[in-house]
Amino acid sequence: MIFPDAADAATAPICSAKGCRAPAVWVLAWNNPKLHTPERRKTWLACEEHREHLSEFLGMRGFLKDVVTLQEWEAMN
Ligand SMILES: [Zn+2]
Repeated sequence: MIFPDAADAATAPICSAKGCRAPAVWVLAWNNPKLHTPERRKTWLACEEHREHLSEFLGMRGFLKDVVTLQEWEAMN
């Protein structure tokens, strides 16, 4: 018997916050101007709980460019 949901869960993106194993809902697109060309986008994944914390971390450093849902991000990229 095959459980398609289990297969999906195994490959589902996980939140980037340290120690968090929750499925990612948000994509935080960021850029460090000292390291990256302006059009380059690095991404962090965040669950509902850690979106604010991770956004703040990047925002304080002036790195945060965009916060979109994982669904939207996958549609765009
Ligand atoms: Zn999390």
